[in-house]
Amino acid sequence: ARGLVWFRTDLRIHDNTALHRAVQACHSVAGVFIACPETWQGHDEGDNLVAFRLACLRELQDALGDRNIPLYFLELKRFDQVPEAMAQIAQKLEVGAVFANAEYPVNEQERDQAVRAALKEVDIPIEFSTDRTLVSPGAVKTNSGDAYKVFTPFKRAFIEQCGGTDFSPLPAPRKRETEEWPSWLQVKGEENLRQTIPDTVDGYSAVPMENGRLLGWQPGEKAALKRLKAFEEQVDAYEDERDFPAIDGTSKLSPYLNAGALSVRQCAHMALECNRGRWKGGSEGIDCWLGELIWREFYTHLIVAYPRICKHKPFKPETEAVPWSSDELAFRRWCKGKTGVPIVDAAMRQLEKTGWMHNRLRMVVASFLTKNLLIDWRWGERYFMNQLIDGDFASNNGGWQWAASTGTDAVPYFRVFNPYSQSKKFDRHGEFIRHYLPELKKLSDDEVHCPPPMEGYPPPICDVKETRKKAIEAFADLKK
Ligand code: FAD
Repeated sequence: ARGLVWFRTDLRIHDNTALHRAVQACHSVAGVFIACPETWQGHDEGDNLVAFRLACLRELQDALGDRNIPLYFLELKRFDQVPEAMAQIAQKLEVGAVFANAEYPVNEQERDQAVRAALKEVDIPIEFSTDRTLVSPGAVKTNSGDAYKVFTPFKRAFIEQCGGTDFSPLPAPRKRETEEWPSWLQVKGEENLRQTIPDTVDGYSAVPMENGRLLGWQPGEKAALKRLKAFEEQVDAYEDERDFPAIDGTSKLSPYLNAGALSVRQCAHMALECNRGRWKGGSEGIDCWLGELIWREFYTHLIVAYPRICKHKPFKPETEAVPWSSDELAFRRWCKGKTGVPIVDAAMRQLEKTGWMHNRLRMVVASFLTKNLLIDWRWGERYFMNQLIDGDFASNNGGWQWAASTGTDAVPYFRVFNPYSQSKKFDRHGEFIRHYLPELKKLSDDEVHCPPPMEGYPPPICDVKETRKKAIEAFADLKK
């Protein structure tokens, strides 16, 4: 039989469960990708993320082409149009089965169920595999069978219950016999299913590429594997270096993981191989990095166990009553990196220039927005999603709710980051600040964290001590 692989956030040929299942089960295989830009916009996915995704898709098409697996592209508007289109595609291509890797946010799950139902009407089965996470969300349970709400016990249970699993990557498909597949098809009455992948889709602006790079990032699976290999040499030092934004001490694999140009299994496998199979008790750097992969796992498991997280709701319902400010001007200054607090501004410019921000700084700027400016975390979550090249609903929402103290296992509301102390501690000589804020280049190592009144750089938008006190009071009032 012929098989169809429906690619989504799994744009790679190595270690792709759905693709692997399809080539095992079917003598001839094609792939399809369906863009839904209106829904993507509704999810706040921005130009950077979408441009990176399309660039990864182009590389995927070449890699599949080398193996005689054609990749079709279809642009619709919204997820709700997918079920009918999918049924038509599967019928017209005369496939016996469809294969995909599961996705977990609520709208994606609803879309997938509707697709399953539409395909059932035409008697074509669809199989969803676990691929985006190391283990299926829901697989790690407390003794009483519930989902974990707190990270540390989740991590312990994950290692206990799933640590022994074999995460060896699956091979890429071998070259197939050539088989006739049409070069285009009419779906919904238009000649719109093609084998060409556009630079951009409706409502999105193309992000210019420079030397094959997008905001400095080389898209695609090959670049992802190269980066993973390079990071292998560095992972031992991860724990010591990961908090300093001026050092390239983290893997920078997040854009690839989120487009699916790399799998989390490939990451875990590399680290476990270097750690003699151990999740902990090996090299401190590797233990620590594996712990971060478990954070990723934790946040995805949470959105499945608590779908209200996907509906703009705080995990802790009582925090709905925080008197969030709606100071749009202050919000805009934060977005643009013009708060007058150098570490915050440098971080926001890093985001704007590269589509990525160092994890330590994501925590600093999120705390600054939600505590010092007392602006609704959902504004920040949305802006991040719109700018990030590695935007992932579960991790972004998890990170924001952590920083805003609205999440499960979040930072306690009375522990507010002081951006100046963070700055001195993690960018002691101001190297990172000077890189993104050249206007502060001439200041001394001391002054660069908190500049004296000067031309060309704004005074601080707020007094961090006073605003910290007010935020703590606002949260404490919730308990009364
Ligand atoms: P490394 O330090 O090398 O870690 C390896 C991988 O582990 C990462 O690629 C990522 O997949 C995972 N990981 C690491 N830290 C976390 C974490 N705290 N939570 C979940 N997974 C983690 N990560 C995203 O992938 N997408 C987002 O949209 C996102 N938004 C965030 C928003 C806020 C407010 C905060 C505080 C964190 C956010 N993170 C997000 C988590 C983290 O900042 C990034 O995963 C990390 O900075 C990516 O860089 P890296 O690949 O070099 O990470």
